[in-house]
Amino acid sequence: MKETLCSLLCTISLLLSYSMEAQDYHLKVARPQSAALDPTVTVALYDDVQLSEEVLSQAADEATRIFHKAGVTTLWIACKSSAGDATPDPRCQGPPGLRHLVLRVVPRSWKSSDSIFGVAFLSERGTGAYGDIFYDSVEKLHRDWGAGLPRVLGHVMAHELGHLLLGSNAHSREGIMRPSWHGDELRAASMGALLFTPEQARSIREGLSRYP
Ligand SMILES: [Zn+2]
Repeated sequence: MKETLCSLLCTISLLLSYSMEAQDYHLKVARPQSAALDPTVTVALYDDVQLSEEVLSQAADEATRIFHKAGVTTLWIACKSSAGDATPDPRCQGPPGLRHLVLRVVPRSWKSSDSIFGVAFLSERGTGAYGDIFYDSVEKLHRDWGAGLPRVLGHVMAHELGHLLLGSNAHSREGIMRPSWHGDELRAASMGALLFTPEQARSIREGLSRYP
């Protein structure tokens, strides 16, 4: 009887610990699971500025959060800029397209205007998969406004990817696709509230649904 009781108690405690682990695991994967129905975009990220891995991954997390709010899942791959580096991830060579975008952080802008964060290379038909981020603009915003560097970088990444996914270099008067950011936008960014408008989010998802 003692043995049976122990075996019963042990089973219960085992089940409890298992269910706690399972719950924990479930919590960890809850966001990706709920996002599993969202269209996924892979982003091959090149860094010519040699930022720390921490800054890059935090920036990617920030952009991921912004796209998650728009109902889009982003999957980031760190790609090496020079051929001499370690074996590149084979996914870095994936054919570019709307679901496989290529983003490169470059040291400085081509134009003198500091309101330009980067460039999205779009054809006349509004198609393109490549974008550059101008690191000097990002750093200036970070310095001038005291906003965290990964946070600013993540928002600029989302902005340039937004041009590619919307198929347009046009800007909007609200949200993350504004042409330049000042105090209000950076305050909104610091609260996680500088996002794609609902119309932009819908347009991005519709574009992706036509591009399986
Ligand atoms: Zn823009």
